[in-house]
Amino acid sequence: TSLSSKLVFNNSYAHLPNVFFSSLSPTAVTKPSLIRVNEALATELGIDPNWLASDEALAILAGNRVPEGAEPIAAVYAGHQFGHFNPQLGDGRAILLGEMLSSEGRRFDIQLKGSGPTPYSRGGDGRSPLGPVLREYLISEAMHTLGVPTSRALAAVASGDTVMRDSPLPGAILTRVASSHIRIGSFEYFAARKDYQALETLTRYTLERHYPDRLHSDNPALALLEGVIERQARLISSWQLLGFIHGVMNTDNMLLCGETIDYGPCAFMDSFNPETVFSSIDHHGRYAYHQQPAIAHWNLAVLAQCLLPLLHDNQDQAVELAQAAVDTFPEHFQAAHLAGLQKKLGLSETRPEDQQLVADLFELMSKHGVDFTLFFRHLADLAAPQSTSSKVSELFTLPASFLPWLQRWQARCELDKCGAAERQQSMYRANPVYIPRNHLVEELINSATFDNDFKPFHRLVERLAKPFEFEPQDSRYALPPAANEVVQRTFC
Ligand code: AMP
Ligand code: MG
Ligand code: MG
Repeated sequence: TSLSSKLVFNNSYAHLPNVFFSSLSPTAVTKPSLIRVNEALATELGIDPNWLASDEALAILAGNRVPEGAEPIAAVYAGHQFGHFNPQLGDGRAILLGEMLSSEGRRFDIQLKGSGPTPYSRGGDGRSPLGPVLREYLISEAMHTLGVPTSRALAAVASGDTVMRDSPLPGAILTRVASSHIRIGSFEYFAARKDYQALETLTRYTLERHYPDRLHSDNPALALLEGVIERQARLISSWQLLGFIHGVMNTDNMLLCGETIDYGPCAFMDSFNPETVFSSIDHHGRYAYHQQPAIAHWNLAVLAQCLLPLLHDNQDQAVELAQAAVDTFPEHFQAAHLAGLQKKLGLSETRPEDQQLVADLFELMSKHGVDFTLFFRHLADLAAPQSTSSKVSELFTLPASFLPWLQRWQARCELDKCGAAERQQSMYRANPVYIPRNHLVEELINSATFDNDFKPFHRLVERLAKPFEFEPQDSRYALPPAANEVVQRTFC
């Protein structure tokens, strides 16, 4: 198939009724320059990566030119922010240019983030500093290579303009690609206004786009709710399995398609502590690592509430259906989480004692502040038949205190049908050696922002393209921060 030297749009959301969005154009910037295009993603979307790196494309990626076929809009939505309902949010610093079909026929949103104010900016400037754009590019692409459903980064451009935050910062624009940007907050917007016709339209649209096999269920709204619950349970479990902390799990940041979205103050945990919080705006730890499953559950209850009028004509029966669906989230989550942990531990089948084995491991890791990523990687080192590697024990402040658990794991492996060599290979495939460690992200943001040096950004993006393959010359990227490098807070 040939790659195209333009963006070929095929829009659908912009053809929904007017109450779903405002039409507008991005605001031009002064002197755009390309930071990076994502060649692999461009190719998947049928776009010629060389063209995407051209000046003609740069004008589009910067918001200085609206390409033919684009129907730019800002979508309206509502949402619970840190537990408080806000009836009117919307794309305040993002503009949907349009949708494209990939070479495999999958539909994607092409969105500019940081491309100027919209009717939903609420006094904000609609812009983004360079740092958050680089963080989102890097972490969303890392999540993709780690196998997590996520929005993607197609390109990053510097705007040439200054953005005022606590201090003046260089501005940038991210081209974000997602299966859609339909959020729980999109449903909340219409539910709060009792616009049940729009709610019905949105439900149908979401089913057609993301759950076509559920479209003709007896109760489509219920089928949608159940589908979202299952996908979100798997998504959140994949975050937990990697030590990823989203940071702002507001209902407007949770997509119905089940992809991770809105990489703000997100970060990966180094040493294991369930209460870890990085976000500078999360003062009470609402979105701490160990809270993420419960918060997802809470957000899904909000979605269920929105769907009540569509679930049943009789309100009591609607509530009963919604409650029964929402109640299944913990089971779905635990099943996905335990299955993922068994994989990480090299176990190919389930045994009743596994839950306790895992619980005891987490307690030990937390007590000793063990690096979450290195633990599983170094445990894999020990899985080979004759291995005597002591690296995993050395992660514990008191290496001897790890031995009883290690012996239990080894005994458990003996009972597993999988052989040692095969186990080690499968553990290396399930446990990354490279994650976007926060101190490295901070370092590359500083280099780009204050020294106009993008090399560290490019290097880490390239390193993270193969997160499961250890490269001796890149071992520095695998290491946890030194004491003076630890980053406590991230900003969006
Ligand atoms: P977030 O925390 O990124 O989910 O953003 C919450 C809401 O604030 C969304 O409606 C955003 O579009 C809006 N928003 C965030 N930053 C800005 C900004 N710089 N200008 C305008 N709107 C913004
Ligand atoms: Mg958001
Ligand atoms: Mg955001």
